Amino acid sequence: MIAPRLEIDLEKLQFNAQNLVGRLAAKGISVTAVMKATLGAPEIANALLRGGVKMLGDARIENISTMRRGGVSTPMALIRSPMISQVARVVESTELSFNTELDVIRRLSVAAQKTKRVHGIVLMVELGDLREGVMPKDLHETVRQVLRLPNIELKGIGANLACRSGVSPDAVNMGELSALADSIESTSGIILEIVSGGNSANLDWALSGADTGRVNNLRLGESILLGCDPLHRKPIAGLHTDAIKLVAEVIESKVKPSQPWGITAQNAFGAPAPPKTHGHIQQAILAIGRQDIDPEGLAPPAGIEILEASSDHLVVRTQRGHQSVGSEITFQLNYSALLRAMTSPFVSKLWKNQRSIPRSVVAHPETYRFVSC
Ligand SMILES: *Cc1c(COP(=O)(O)O)cnc(C)c1O
Repeated sequence: MIAPRLEIDLEKLQFNAQNLVGRLAAKGISVTAVMKATLGAPEIANALLRGGVKMLGDARIENISTMRRGGVSTPMALIRSPMISQVARVVESTELSFNTELDVIRRLSVAAQKTKRVHGIVLMVELGDLREGVMPKDLHETVRQVLRLPNIELKGIGANLACRSGVSPDAVNMGELSALADSIESTSGIILEIVSGGNSANLDWALSGADTGRVNNLRLGESILLGCDPLHRKPIAGLHTDAIKLVAEVIESKVKPSQPWGITAQNAFGAPAPPKTHGHIQQAILAIGRQDIDPEGLAPPAGIEILEASSDHLVVRTQRGHQSVGSEITFQLNYSALLRAMTSPFVSKLWKNQRSIPRSVVAHPETYRFVSC
């Protein structure tokens, strides 16, 4: 079978989405499924929509275009502030974008007027993680400016935590977001349809029984795809953590000394970890490397230990006997390894439990054309 490959179980992904959608609906919170780790795979989008997700989000307009070309017609949100160079595409392909800069929103307004569309805006507020967001003290003035722009509709406010600095969503920062929503409504007289509290890191807070206030939307990626809580990297009870697996093929298998010989300096990617063992070990090489995965983000099966990775070789120790050349090893992935595997043109995608076969536009190595310069 073609290797390396991601084996993606669409029923398990649908189940994860359904479970989270159901639990959050009880709190009045809708789910926007974040597709950026999937390269906008329409197969996955359709599975999550079957799971009850109402909107899809992505950080990149290219992924949104991939889903549109794949026949996905659900409302979509660009969840990263648009590049000014892409405003025309954003207005054309999305219903909504998340914004932090008036200069960008003004350009979106111009693009929307040109094509006679109305574009929705969610203003992101900085609540301490120090990635994107308008500072809370500037929010009212920003809202005032946005409300004056033609063909722009202010749909709501949002926040994103735990991505840059690991700041946890809690009663204090989420309470501040709710209070901001209330005060904008009372000073400007508009209704904010969306109060988007954050990402998978918000689940602990949202499902803990805390008062969720005005928050009525979360944007979930990792928790649906990997069944994992990104704050503590722990499995979320009741979810599948093996919906997506990575399979790689053995291209060399030999007994070798565990210690290198010769004078050692740095390897291709800096200093290697010192060998933990002495004597000889059963070593295998898999045909996959840093170009395709983050080796630190792979969880090997029992009896396999990851030793080192270079661009195209993953070196493992096998303690489950001789691993024959041509055999395969299956790994679980974390978010970082998944991101890289999904975006590597050398890793194929094998869909499991696919309901119907939508027009697939997800890259397989064969369909990629490389342009040399
Ligand atoms: C990536 C991202 C998300 C989704 O994060 P997960 O941890 O995968 O749930 C949500 N919102 C924004 C703004 C993001 O960039």
